[in-house]
Amino acid sequence: MSALIIAIDGPSAAGKSTLAKRLAKDLGFTYLDTGAMYRALALKVLSEGTDISTEAALPELINRTEIDLVETGGQPKVLLDGKDVSDKIRTPEVSQMASKTSALKVVRHWMLGLQRALGQRGNVVAEGRDIGTVVFPAAEVKIYLNASVEERARRRVDELRKAGRQVSLDETLREMGERDKRDSERDLAPLRKADDAVAIDSTALDAEALARRVMQEIRKKPLVN
Ligand code: C5P
Repeated sequence: MSALIIAIDGPSAAGKSTLAKRLAKDLGFTYLDTGAMYRALALKVLSEGTDISTEAALPELINRTEIDLVETGGQPKVLLDGKDVSDKIRTPEVSQMASKTSALKVVRHWMLGLQRALGQRGNVVAEGRDIGTVVFPAAEVKIYLNASVEERARRRVDELRKAGRQVSLDETLREMGERDKRDSERDLAPLRKADDAVAIDSTALDAEALARRVMQEIRKKPLVN
């Protein structure tokens, strides 16, 4: 039997990671955080001061970059050139740079190959912006997760403050709006709901209720019990 894929797409802070991690754990699937991969590359771009105003410098950078997703002690980790950068990639600067570099053709092409190869590792829950539309268009289950912009900003502020960052709600709202606009309006693999995805609004749902709601969709598929 070929691997089963659950695709979760949606804008920033819609609740994708919490949901995807939980489903992966409950179902025994591999968790594939494609955003973390774009973030890892963005971290390298920032640390090297690479000029991304044209795509010229990127093939060389990509050629000497390795990105992998692993699990250590039950926790998903992203490795950049063999080093765990899971915490370092969760900053507003990296978010913005990930959104900029992810619009570039050479980057998307590279990531598509990496992500599809990771999909060969077995059953996966993959989250991102273009999973159901581009990366795994034949995924058995596709969820498009959204929430009100205020709720998403509130969640992102909570998350950043827990990680020790002092951020304001206004600034977070502005940055999130900018990033979602760029991710939705780009030419290549823009954020959009796949025609066959189930749209779910997580604004009024806690993690438990959201997971229950998505499990209803998963159970409709004959291959997943
Ligand atoms: O999901 P996360 O916020 O970590 O993603 C960071 C950025 O990576 C997004 O804003 C988006 O620009 C990019 N991304 C993408 N396609 C994906 C996943 C993330 O373009 N499948």
